[in-house]
Amino acid sequence: MKEGTKCVQEGYKPSNGGPRVLPLYQSTTFAYDTPEQLAQVFDLKDPGFMYSRLGNPTCDALEKKVAALEGGAAAITASSGMSAILMAVTNVCSAGDNIISYAKIYGGTFNLFNVTLRRLGIECRFIDAETSAEDIEKLIDDRTRLIYGESIANPGMDIFDYEKVVPVCRKHGVLLMIDNTLTTPVLHRPFEWGADVVVHSTTKYMDGHASSLGGIVVCSDKLDFTGNARYPMFTTPDASYHGMVYQTACGSAAFVVKIRAQMLRDMGCCMSPFNAYLTNMGMETMHLRMKAHSENALALAKALKEQDNVEWVRYPGLEGDPMHALAEKYFDGGCSGMITFGIKGGRAAANKFMKALKLARIVTHIADVRTCVLHPATTTHRQLSDEELVKAGVPDNLIRVSVGIEDKEDIIQDMLAALAAAR
Ligand code: PLP
Repeated sequence: MKEGTKCVQEGYKPSNGGPRVLPLYQSTTFAYDTPEQLAQVFDLKDPGFMYSRLGNPTCDALEKKVAALEGGAAAITASSGMSAILMAVTNVCSAGDNIISYAKIYGGTFNLFNVTLRRLGIECRFIDAETSAEDIEKLIDDRTRLIYGESIANPGMDIFDYEKVVPVCRKHGVLLMIDNTLTTPVLHRPFEWGADVVVHSTTKYMDGHASSLGGIVVCSDKLDFTGNARYPMFTTPDASYHGMVYQTACGSAAFVVKIRAQMLRDMGCCMSPFNAYLTNMGMETMHLRMKAHSENALALAKALKEQDNVEWVRYPGLEGDPMHALAEKYFDGGCSGMITFGIKGGRAAANKFMKALKLARIVTHIADVRTCVLHPATTTHRQLSDEELVKAGVPDNLIRVSVGIEDKEDIIQDMLAALAAAR
């Protein structure tokens, strides 16, 4: 099946005479006739459900759909993108361990890595797009558990360069974890390029309508920890889960099963079935939306480039963009709806521009059907110091536009009129 067909058909399979549409199983718990049957579920020998913190049929259908789209072995839903990232990282990291991450990533993830994980004794060593493979290698030691990056960095717009990083990961047996939120598997599939684990904020294009928070972790079907001394948590018995050895019991799904058995059990940040229901419905049109977002964004990026009070425009789909060559190599049919540009006149001009918009609204969010804008330096990234702002790739004149799927003429006209008002 191609991506569009998977968006519509994967996940839920109706039984003969069953409901055609994925049902919402709004139930915390599931009933059994005998204790032995429930015990089989606890032992993971029966794929049934026991309690919705650990798994739910509506969430399960969404997990299967995303795993199929990414080409992964298994997936697990979470209450938000942040909780998906937290569970994926702490699945392999304990106090004293370290990770390596690009600094130009979503501000919330940067904060998690730079502040909260540090408080838990997990160190993050930051790199940027210019860091060479040799310099990345120098940061790896015995306690390095993963390298982390975003397919397209939000809002820095760097594109993850697999050909540089994957050989380093392979040489040292270190996991590569990619946040594929902005591209979605419709435009880009990280496992095809060597990633081991993919995370998403499903809150964005997967839901697509700005109605449901959620996250998901997917693991590659090639993931095998056998003989890799860096990850004993998969190859030695888990005393907290009746001695299960995840690699032996679950094969390439081990990473996700361990999240379910340990992290979701103990942290409890599960996706609500209703959010899974809405997200699944959103995903049924994701292939159409990603094309429309990408086409509209390219048209707007071209129009912005012509404006005299626009200092610069970043969109990987634009010829001449520093990331254009990587976008051509790794992405398939578009670069999503996110654009950034720098307005002449800094914070004051940005403020006037945002106030003059009529169609686009000021919203923290990105990646839904409606066009929206944000000035990160005074909102999402306001907790960062000036030095950290530069490191995160967010100069103070940067405006982020999440281009929706309205008619492109209307989007462009709204932006040009607001730019005129900001002159
Ligand atoms: N990853 C990226 C690339 C994001 O843009 C976001 C949120 O904007 C997140 C992760 C966090 O997701 P959530 O808001 O669902 O927790």
